[in-house]
Amino acid sequence: METPAQHFDCLIVGAGHGGAQTAIQLRQLGFAGSIGVIGEEPELPYERPPLSKEFLAGEKDFPRLLIRTEAFWTERQVMFLTGRRVTAIDPIARTVTTAAGECFGYGELVWATGGSPRRLRCAGHDLAGVHAVRTRADVEQLKAELATTRQVVVVGGGYIGLEAAAVLTKLGKSVTVVETLDRVLARVAGAELSTFLENAHRARGVTILTSATVTAITGTAGRATGVVLGDGRTLPADMVIVGIGIIPETAPLAAAGAAGSNGVDVDDHCRTSLPHIWAIGDCAAHENIFAGGARIRLESVQNANDMATTVARALTGNPRPYAQVPWFWSNQFDLRLQTVGLSIGHDATVLRGDPASGAFSIVYLRSGRVIALDCVNAVKDYVQGKALVEQGVAVAANDLANTEIPLKHWHAQGATA
Ligand code: ADP
Repeated sequence: METPAQHFDCLIVGAGHGGAQTAIQLRQLGFAGSIGVIGEEPELPYERPPLSKEFLAGEKDFPRLLIRTEAFWTERQVMFLTGRRVTAIDPIARTVTTAAGECFGYGELVWATGGSPRRLRCAGHDLAGVHAVRTRADVEQLKAELATTRQVVVVGGGYIGLEAAAVLTKLGKSVTVVETLDRVLARVAGAELSTFLENAHRARGVTILTSATVTAITGTAGRATGVVLGDGRTLPADMVIVGIGIIPETAPLAAAGAAGSNGVDVDDHCRTSLPHIWAIGDCAAHENIFAGGARIRLESVQNANDMATTVARALTGNPRPYAQVPWFWSNQFDLRLQTVGLSIGHDATVLRGDPASGAFSIVYLRSGRVIALDCVNAVKDYVQGKALVEQGVAVAANDLANTEIPLKHWHAQGATA
């Protein structure tokens, strides 16, 4: 058995939103032991959502993305071990080993690694000019190529793809989005929102191709020049952006024997099936009460932060089960999208407001109860709808459609807007 170079009472693997928030909350809640954070990237924890928005657009520089300053981490004695990738865990010896062969010991291990971008498998997927949007390095590389880019193909019509398409169109590029399914955002949004967004993007100059597959990326001298579609067409491209989801980074946990088939399984305190090992964020498959108790993974800042708090509470002797309502947001052109709740399993939808006005909400119901809202430029509905989702309030569809009645009208007594 290897002797650990260093031991941490709490060792966090993954320096993203979840990892950072775990360290912040542990100190906030009075954890006095040593805290180490191992991160694969060279940077201190930074916010990822702006990567496909303000950072890509050049509106925010990197220092403004940092979740906390270096001084903050030093003051709170949180030690960062950056540029290191954990490749193995020994749950008996309570050690982790990095790709470079370093060994670190832990009292409690918090796995907060998120996922790595899914890559295309077709010919040409590794040509220069083909980019993921997951890390600062991805986006720096992409930005460095923008001056010589005219035509962009975005593969994947999820949030990442649509956000990148909006920014690059605003920067004057000619952008085509290629989506395999018959509508964009199919994984996370209802059909009405997909249709609205497709129209909105088209009206602002983006070409959106649905039910379209990529069969190859062509190139010259090692650089991408085009994207070949299943119907035989080739779209010329100086740049290809791939936003087709993530694969949870849980191989070392699985190898150590942790349960889970889609990421790693955790209980309502974010415990894995292995003793003293916890998992949070994008990679943690949990039974979510807002999904009717189904075991799901959520890829969001809310989920990473709230699960971090769940673990920190458990580790400081004040456990509280994870039960926060999911929320998400996205900015595309002048559209502010906000989602609260999960629409999985809805059996009815109600439109509030007129999509043609550019501001409206879609309310999702199951058995007459509000389970989620997708809001477009409708912050009030989002804020007030949150309590309806949290409380599973039953509201008649006709009433919900009446925009003259604010959603707070149905708040249970004592609820806040
Ligand atoms: P992301 O966070 O990267 O936006 P999502 O899973 O939300 O991830 O969205 C990815 C989108 O990419 C989905 O709409 C999915 O249908 C689409 N997609 C997946 N694989 C392909 C592919 N090979 N070509 C085009 N679109 C794809």
